[in-house]
Amino acid sequence: MRIVLLGAPGSGKGTQSRQLLERYRIAQVSTGDLLRAAVAQGTPLGQAAQAAMSAGRLVEDDIVLGMIRERLREPDTAAGFILDGFPRNLAQAVALDRLLQQIGRPLDAVVQLQVDYAELSRRIAGRRTCVDCGRVVNLTTTPSEVLEHEPCPKTGKPHRLVQRPDDTEATVAERLRVYDEQTRPLIDYYAAQGLLHSIDAEGAVADVARRLQAVLPHD
Ligand code: AMP
Repeated sequence: MRIVLLGAPGSGKGTQSRQLLERYRIAQVSTGDLLRAAVAQGTPLGQAAQAAMSAGRLVEDDIVLGMIRERLREPDTAAGFILDGFPRNLAQAVALDRLLQQIGRPLDAVVQLQVDYAELSRRIAGRRTCVDCGRVVNLTTTPSEVLEHEPCPKTGKPHRLVQRPDDTEATVAERLRVYDEQTRPLIDYYAAQGLLHSIDAEGAVADVARRLQAVLPHD
């Protein structure tokens, strides 16, 4: 199964991707995660991406497309993949179609996660990531046993939770604006291809996961 999850920052693309990859055993491909790893390692690609990321703007298409091309060559994507945070604009969507056509692996579905603006802002404000294992939690919805007592699988100690540097108020406003301007047009692009499904992505993670699975093609 090859799918794209489309949605604004905070709509739950990462959370739902993790649910899907456990269920379908397919790879999660998150350009945001790949870029953050490159920034953390200080690679030339990370250095080139950092300014745009911290300002909440999109990183250059060439950088992101190069990363995707390489990632889709890795064997864990052979059984299928979930694209999380890619494509983000029309040029990326067209390039993706071309790439998938070349390798004979077209998309099966695109799912838009719908969440209203106030809820997006609330989710992003509460989002925290463990610096050691990368687990993403939300201060408002994750049970306090997990937040305070669950041992981190990497350290065996409680998670060390930090806020993403681009989850601050000013940057979030810019990321939402960029979503509306550049990413939202992809809804029509994929609807015209007959691939689009839109689901209500508010409420409990498990409920959203059920709605998502209900619209995915069954083998
Ligand atoms: P995300 O984790 O998906 O919210 O992405 C975090 C940041 O990484 C974005 O605000 C962009 O600066 C950058 N980024 C992630 N994916 C893309 C993409 N497909 N194209 C351009 N920039 C991206």
